[in-house]
Amino acid sequence: MEYRISRIIQESPRVRRFFLDTGAFDFNPGQFVVLTHPDLPFGQNQRSYSIASLNSKQEELELCIVLNEKGSVTPWLFQKKVGEMLDISLAQGTFNLKNEGNSGPIVFVATGTGVAPFRSMIDASFKNSDAEVHLVFGNRIQEDILYRDHWETLQLENARFHFYPVLSREEALNCHFGYVHGIYESLLIGQTDARIYVCGWQDMCKEARERLKLLGFNRKQYAFEQYD
Ligand SMILES: Cc1cc2nc3c(=O)[nH]c(=O)nc-3n(C[C@H](O)[C@H](O)[C@H](O)COP(=O)(O)OP(=O)(O)OC[C@H]3O[C@@H](n4cnc5c(N)ncnc54)[C@H](O)[C@@H]3O)c2cc1C
Repeated sequence: MEYRISRIIQESPRVRRFFLDTGAFDFNPGQFVVLTHPDLPFGQNQRSYSIASLNSKQEELELCIVLNEKGSVTPWLFQKKVGEMLDISLAQGTFNLKNEGNSGPIVFVATGTGVAPFRSMIDASFKNSDAEVHLVFGNRIQEDILYRDHWETLQLENARFHFYPVLSREEALNCHFGYVHGIYESLLIGQTDARIYVCGWQDMCKEARERLKLLGFNRKQYAFEQYD
């Protein structure tokens, strides 16, 4: 289906939030849509994007996309203006919340735009469980922290939400320095009934998978969404 771009927000130097005039858009928290480039050959013309909307009742569908200057689709997408149309699929994917009745903590781990599906997953975690919810969010520098106001406000308003921004290239107030792995590992000590969701690019996901296995978590306790 083609939808009109209703708004574009420059969220960080390389990331834009694209809002589409979809009306209420049916999806399960964590799902993605497939965007089709109209001019590229079949087989090279589709890219997946996690749904970054907070819930399916919003009148606009939100996507949060990082520019890959050497890529074939994002440079074209970043030329798009409000009022132009984008072709996207229905919601797809099985990266969803599991065992919502379980009372163990829920730990979300993301780098970069990997935080997009966690917007709705975290929102739903509060509605559907009493669990403590942790978001460990890795970036290089402070200005890359996507939705920072949203996470910080949520932390102030909701005692069950804990936000851990982690920076690998600069030290900053209220941020951890280094990589996401050491932070979620320390949160998971003794938490045998935790559930863990990891989203981002290959290197981070691969390392997290190995570390979670070593920590003794079983396959049913964690889920991954890998962007490449
Ligand atoms: C399920 C799923 C959900 C996704 N959701 C999002 C999302 O919400 N936001 C988002 O920005 N992207 C998301 N992606 C990635 C997206 O589908 C594209 O791969 C990305 O936008 C690059 O497209 P491109 O055509 O510009 O580059 P391509 O021409 O496809 O890219 C060329 C190469 O660069 C790699 N690459 C591209 N960007 C990066 C990067 N930042 N870090 C490391 N390697 C990279 C690609 O894997 C590829 O090998 C998702 C991918 C999947 C599979």
